[in-house]
Amino acid sequence: MLKRSEFSRGWCSPERYVQGPGEFDNLRFYTDKFGKHVAVFIDRFLYEEYTGRLEKMYAVGDCTLRTFAFESEVTEKLICERTEELKKDSPDVVVGIGGGKTIDVAKAVGTRLGVPFIVVPTIAATDAPTSSLSVIYREDGSHEGEFFYDHSPAVLVVDTQIIANAPVRFLVSGMGDALATLIEADSTRKAGVPNLVYHTTGGFKQTLAGQAIAKACYESLMKYGVLAKEACSRKVVTEALEHIIETNILLSGLGFENNATSGAHSVNDGLTAVEGSSRTMHGEKVAFGCIVQLIAECADRAYLDEVLKFCVSVGLPVCLEDLYVENTEENIRTIAAASMHSNWGNMPFPVDEATVFAAVTTADFYGKKFKMRWQNEI
Ligand SMILES: [Zn+2]
Repeated sequence: MLKRSEFSRGWCSPERYVQGPGEFDNLRFYTDKFGKHVAVFIDRFLYEEYTGRLEKMYAVGDCTLRTFAFESEVTEKLICERTEELKKDSPDVVVGIGGGKTIDVAKAVGTRLGVPFIVVPTIAATDAPTSSLSVIYREDGSHEGEFFYDHSPAVLVVDTQIIANAPVRFLVSGMGDALATLIEADSTRKAGVPNLVYHTTGGFKQTLAGQAIAKACYESLMKYGVLAKEACSRKVVTEALEHIIETNILLSGLGFENNATSGAHSVNDGLTAVEGSSRTMHGEKVAFGCIVQLIAECADRAYLDEVLKFCVSVGLPVCLEDLYVENTEENIRTIAAASMHSNWGNMPFPVDEATVFAAVTTADFYGKKFKMRWQNEI
């Protein structure tokens, strides 16, 4: 076991991060750093297009390329099967191209094979690409838990034109996930709870770097969020969109792993227990969770209003109706009860079901009123 002082600080991050339009076409350069044998997991609906591009890229030289289409759930069984299959090939590096689930498979298989993994996100909908964990599901699609790894991705290759070509709702949802980074980091710092660095050993105290990144994450959203959305909805890459892609993927990812999550993500988990919420994405639920957390901690009203104004201006949910959840006492009680299994314990004050019930009720009412007042002015 590790001997660790309660004052020990910890930090983790991918080894390299590159981002820009057309960066995908440089993938060979990055995999060559690790060897000639490459295994790639690709989202099913991108498979033909990207396999074609990869085959051209790897046609020269004595390298081997093995591609897999991924379309199901990230289950223990699937990870074992793919790992066994790839053992014969002994790849030097495993690559994941696509959304969160495909990336999670690449991380898991790379880890099991003991080789580096490279992540190529095709959307910026969450901060999962940078992290050293995979979310695991059961065969029936229900959530089983997380695998935590001792290594982060070796390289993150972010092609901003690919992300600009994806539906804008993904980018907006990623901003919702990023919005929670500072709000949660402030609460976990005050609570003195450990971050997710070497999580299985108990984590570490936050670094100044982790705190600074959470702050930069929030500031970037406020400055560039609206204009980034405009660019993405027209499938063009501007500097503002570049900033927000970096914010959603790198700043938000480093921010949550190095500071831990708390109330906003607990509300996300609580919302998954009620009907209707499956129509919304992770970051959309987290955005509403930010409003709930700020109300629970009695945050400064100007800060709360700034967060609400941001959500309304980019089209993130600010009330239950926006999340397709009916405002009933039963629904709010269910959300509150289900959220208690998550990370409310990372707040700097005690939170119980009654606290969450009151905060969700108030957030819904205040958010709705705020939206009515502001949506024509923004
Ligand atoms: Zn998240």
